Amino acid sequence: MKAMTHYYWYKACSICDGQGRLLLFMDLFRKELYLHCEECECGWRDPEKAERKEAGFLTLDEDFEAEAATRADIDKCGWQKYAVNSFDKE
Ligand SMILES: [Zn+2]
Repeated sequence: MKAMTHYYWYKACSICDGQGRLLLFMDLFRKELYLHCEECECGWRDPEKAERKEAGFLTLDEDFEAEAATRADIDKCGWQKYAVNSFDKE
């Protein structure tokens, strides 16, 4: 049996027309949270600008380690208002 990961997400991605969800991820290098679209792999360090493509970056182009943000990460960074939805996935 695989361990389940709990993912928090903000809203549907505006770039790929709602096909992807903007997941809250922790950038393990910068120790900062960012939004990561599960579908188009776009990322935003500022959630307030997640509607704007030019404010984002392509996560595949950047060399860093990241993982799903935990509740503790979210509380520490004050991102509670972006942790609107969640789901479990293997
Ligand atoms: Zn997307």
